[in-house]
Amino acid sequence: MEFYRFYSLTLFAGLMVNQGCTMVKITISEKRNPIPQQVTIGEKTTLTTWGAIKVNNAHFFPSSFQLKADNATIYIDPVEIENVEPADYILITHAHPDHFSLKDINGLLKEETKIICSKGASKKLRKVKSQIQIVKPNQRLEFEDFSMETTFAYNTKSVFLWIKAHPKSKENVGYVITLKNGRRVYHAGDTDYIPEIEDLAEIDVVLVPIGGDNLTMNTREAAMIVNKIEPNMVIPMHYEIKNSDELNQFGALVNERIRIVTLNSEY
Ligand SMILES: [Zn+2]
Repeated sequence: MEFYRFYSLTLFAGLMVNQGCTMVKITISEKRNPIPQQVTIGEKTTLTTWGAIKVNNAHFFPSSFQLKADNATIYIDPVEIENVEPADYILITHAHPDHFSLKDINGLLKEETKIICSKGASKKLRKVKSQIQIVKPNQRLEFEDFSMETTFAYNTKSVFLWIKAHPKSKENVGYVITLKNGRRVYHAGDTDYIPEIEDLAEIDVVLVPIGGDNLTMNTREAAMIVNKIEPNMVIPMHYEIKNSDELNQFGALVNERIRIVTLNSEY
């Protein structure tokens, strides 16, 4: 809990100076599994994570993933990822430093890379010359390799007094990606349990934050939304690694029919 309190306060301080990154130091965690963790979610379709990052001094499993399908390589919130192939698409949910890394984005770019991001993230991409598409919640977009819906992602709980880490007014997003082979992946971003995501349906894989403490859903809320959406598979993200209680709790609350895949918790 200490970590989250510190992290919340740090984030809060960051938000107060309207930067979000000056107070938070992100590095690769020593607890990172040296081998990137991968799960197959369909024919020629994989999800990969590079695993643990350090947020200041705490070891944290982030919300960074690579989604690969046929010929498309899509990254969602890439932070401290290593030895990677360039991106066809980079999707950013919001501008917080555990989701947005200019260094990683620059490292993934090739000439044709398309960046899709929230307005807040776009403000930090002014020097990037790629195609940038700014999105807000509840939009539908078509690309050559997939179609996508953006979802709402915001807090109902405050970090401090009335201040929320992810206020609705920021128009942060989550993404539902529908691949050409029909697989549907939902990356929730940083959000609480909110009514707008209750009706998501026919999702194969849900990537859901479970860390709680006024930054995202906690394990109970995350399990509730996952049980509502009823995907085939769920991958928990955005939690402190040492806290295996959280993962166990989440596991106990999710319907047995839904496969839980934990990537690089404590290997
Ligand atoms: Zn955030």
